[in-house]
Amino acid sequence: MTNDSESFDAIASLLEKYSNAHGVSGNEDEIGRLLKEDLKGCADEIKFDALGSLIAVRKGSSPNGPTIMLAAHMDEIGLMVKYIDENGFLRFAKFGGWFDQTLLNQRVIVHGSKGDIYGVIGSKPPHVMTPEDAKSPVKHKDMFIDVGAKNAEDVKNLGIEPGTYITTDRSFAKLANNRVTGKCFDNRAGVALMVEVMRRLKGKDIKATVYAVGTVQEEVGLKGAKTAAYASNADVALALDTTVPGDHPGITKLDSPLEIGKGPIVAISDASGRGLIAHPQVVKWLRESAEKIEVDVQLGVGEGGTTDASAIHLTKEGIPTGTVQIATRYIHSPVEVIDLADIENSVQLVVAAIERAHKYFTKKNE
Ligand SMILES: [Zn+2]
Repeated sequence: MTNDSESFDAIASLLEKYSNAHGVSGNEDEIGRLLKEDLKGCADEIKFDALGSLIAVRKGSSPNGPTIMLAAHMDEIGLMVKYIDENGFLRFAKFGGWFDQTLLNQRVIVHGSKGDIYGVIGSKPPHVMTPEDAKSPVKHKDMFIDVGAKNAEDVKNLGIEPGTYITTDRSFAKLANNRVTGKCFDNRAGVALMVEVMRRLKGKDIKATVYAVGTVQEEVGLKGAKTAAYASNADVALALDTTVPGDHPGITKLDSPLEIGKGPIVAISDASGRGLIAHPQVVKWLRESAEKIEVDVQLGVGEGGTTDASAIHLTKEGIPTGTVQIATRYIHSPVEVIDLADIENSVQLVVAAIERAHKYFTKKNE
């Protein structure tokens, strides 16, 4: 395992840039632009598909080399304006898996057509709560956003209407021990991992062709991965994403035996097998690649939640697929926590795997 502070700095600055940017499912343009800029120097071709997924292609040196699809979803969970009341308060729909309590009293950014507007998710003060109020969790349907408007007309003039996207206002910060916090590390950590892999492949003689794909709309149904997997026609695929560790109060090793700072997670299965059952050859490839470079991996067996891999492996006649995941505390909240060493070691693992891919997979006959 590495402890190189320079590579940590490079990864931290990518993660800071991507997680401070905004992109709820269906609105990934900003992240797509950042990715295009950052991948320009390390891809032979960059395009967007009709749904908005970014596809960066790095051609391999061997005509018989396999094609590897890397998929990192660019979207984040967020909110959308649903209704504006006569007093200028916004009601909203949830996009993605929020625990409603997490939203209460957050500061948010409303991405209006005339520019971003700050808002707060307001609630009844404790002074006027009944004992029942104090005990029961507030549902998102009972919450509202205050942008400082005096009435509905005021809101309209700010460029806010039903369909306007909303994200949480929380910026990246460093904690102790190379651990960092911010919003949407799910999945900007996967995006940072993918970009850093492409950077480190630069100048290397790689037999395989790599499709680095920033997918859209993962959090609302693994949608971008479906269309991009079809386009990539890959021989093997890896979803790069985040997952739940069981290493803090309120959760046990039985809920999740994974820990932050203990290395990349190679999923064996997720959603009790209803999502992905990783292809045995992909697991073998990843574990042997990790052994080769002496990076410890954690094996993931999840019972809830899944990744783009679920959609990718069912494409065309089937694509052998696995995942490399980063343990992320407080996932699907605006205060997610990650250990940068896990991203660094995941980068090293994926680079090593790509270098050796032709020994495990061959180009399919067309
Ligand atoms: Zn994710």
